[in-house]
Amino acid sequence: MKTRLTETIAKHFSACMDMLLPRTCIVCGKKLLVDEKHICLQCAIDLPLTHFWSRTHNPMADRFNEKLQEWLEMIWEGSEEQDTDADTYERYAYASALFFYNEDAEYKNITRELKYNRNIPAGQHFARMLGSRMASCAHFEDVGIVIPVPLHWKREWSRGYNQAEVIASEIAEKLGAVMRNDILERVRNTKTQTRLDVEEKAANVKEAFAIRNAQALLDAIGSGHDGGEHGGHVLLVDDVFTTGATLNACFVALRRVLPPEVRISIATLGFVGE
Ligand SMILES: [Zn+2]
Repeated sequence: MKTRLTETIAKHFSACMDMLLPRTCIVCGKKLLVDEKHICLQCAIDLPLTHFWSRTHNPMADRFNEKLQEWLEMIWEGSEEQDTDADTYERYAYASALFFYNEDAEYKNITRELKYNRNIPAGQHFARMLGSRMASCAHFEDVGIVIPVPLHWKREWSRGYNQAEVIASEIAEKLGAVMRNDILERVRNTKTQTRLDVEEKAANVKEAFAIRNAQALLDAIGSGHDGGEHGGHVLLVDDVFTTGATLNACFVALRRVLPPEVRISIATLGFVGE
């Protein structure tokens, strides 16, 4: 009874707040109804979901894995670390995204609001949507650690937060995994990627990431659920997947420390189709 009363009061309160400070749909800009959060019902119905989470092989995973092989060859080339086939052999990385990101569609606001408009609650809302869908899929069940793509400290300092970390936290909670932002660091502030071709992009981000504490990562894998039994499963998270170069670079940095039996998968809110 008490809870229902609290709910009613809360509802009236938000209705009053809506009159004073109308909330709008981040996609179409229409005024939101009391029960709607961040996005109106119509835009939520029309949200171009990828459904990638339910398929171990999908266009995002295919694109990522194909480039990954080139990356590993490029990285290990001439490297003293290259000694066994394990360096170039990779388990197929799973990949998941919530929606198809298109520059011409207003759904791009889902990630833009989080990245440029400090709309952290909206980012969390959509990250939970993705996380709960992933949590219902067997191939993400053993994810023990979720690692956000780090920002360079200067950029994070000026923005005040890392948008990938906001997403990673929510996904980790849904998967019953641990979010770790202390494993990977961005050691180089990379140039903007848009005008570079694939090889230039690779060179641009190749040395951008480093493992801050290798032992902490290995310990975390060991203590993650199912870590010992299945070798462990790490999920790398970013806001949008375009070419995958940034995620490829993070993957390679992690692989330098993680043994090949640890699977590394990726997840983003937006996926830019070709
Ligand atoms: Zn709308």
